[in-house]
Amino acid sequence: MSAITLDGVRKRYPGGVLAVKGVDIDIESGEFVTLVGPSGCGKTTTLRTIAGFERPTDGTVSIADEEVTDLPPYERDTGMVFQDFALFPHMTIHENVAYGMEADGGYTDEEIDARVAEMLELVELPEMGDRTPDQLSGGQQQRVALARALAPKPQALLLDEPLASLDKKLREQMQVELRRIQQEVGITTVFVTHNQEEALTMSDRIAVMNDGRFEQVGPPGEVYDEPKTRFVADFLGTANIFDGSVRAVENGRATVECDDVTLRTRATSGVKTGDDVSVVIRPERFELSTATTDGGTTAEADGADLNVFEGEITFRRHLGSSIEYHLETLEGRELVVVRRSGHDERTAGERVSVRVEADDCRIVEA
Ligand code: ATP
Repeated sequence: MSAITLDGVRKRYPGGVLAVKGVDIDIESGEFVTLVGPSGCGKTTTLRTIAGFERPTDGTVSIADEEVTDLPPYERDTGMVFQDFALFPHMTIHENVAYGMEADGGYTDEEIDARVAEMLELVELPEMGDRTPDQLSGGQQQRVALARALAPKPQALLLDEPLASLDKKLREQMQVELRRIQQEVGITTVFVTHNQEEALTMSDRIAVMNDGRFEQVGPPGEVYDEPKTRFVADFLGTANIFDGSVRAVENGRATVECDDVTLRTRATSGVKTGDDVSVVIRPERFELSTATTDGGTTAEADGADLNVFEGEITFRRHLGSSIEYHLETLEGRELVVVRRSGHDERTAGERVSVRVEADDCRIVEA
């Protein structure tokens, strides 16, 4: 059974902006799916279309296999959390969490009290029911907003940048906490963020949006390691991107000629000689060593399945468990290389050589 299905959803706002240009997705029950992409790409519009705050211009929305395209939000059985929490300031925390069940009718006071207590326990704020929102920290208010959305036992949880207004440390804690709660409740969740790190760490699947479309949908590891397009590679994580054209393809390997270098890469299926492509190399795929040759970039002599660059470190910064180096190659290209700290440590100004296996060089659509 699909928990949420979008079928050919397009949304044109009055005034002409085509915010969503045709998106399709089947979200499974209990799945955590993140819509990620740059500002204005249509994430919020897609989420609001699922919630029922926007009606699609074309296409259909189904929840629990029932088409709901024409139903108003309150008949859709979803719970929503917004970036600004949107708690009712004049109500206590208990009243806030009870709100959905009260509005729904059909529950006794005892049922509501028991459910509110259960929800406050779930978000680890059991003693806070009598306070008002202004007596809570930002992180606590966010938990209350989550408890309020979950209290009426909706079919799906819709989260619109719920962590964006929290500071970095708290945001990281809440990422873990939100995922724990989502898994404990087993609720289907659609999460909107423009933060790629949040998307990679929290989701079962990521839908990378660009200009009103899903450019790629898949599990975090797949979207990161096997991006289908240059946009996806560039948006999620850091990517070294080389634009060039394919000179040869044989035995699962391709040779790609760029302006400054010739690269050996894995040959993605369908790639053929003459294609204009981009090659993506993730920063952690490089090995780093002391410069040994005078030459620039070479594909090593034997099977030529390594690409070796010579260059100078122009900048380094500590990221905690790893170190990021920026290199200028002899050909004048900037490369970003990340190594685990304690391994191959280097300083700015040093001349180094970096190598990367052909297998770790991915061809994507230009
Ligand atoms: P952000 O990360 O900045 O919130 P987003 O990816 O969520 O962006 P949307 O808010 O869905 O993007 O907006 C998509 C496009 O639709 C933008 O060009 C935006 O200006 C436009 N848009 C959004 N809401 C409306 C509206 N009510 N009326 C007209 N145009 C709108």
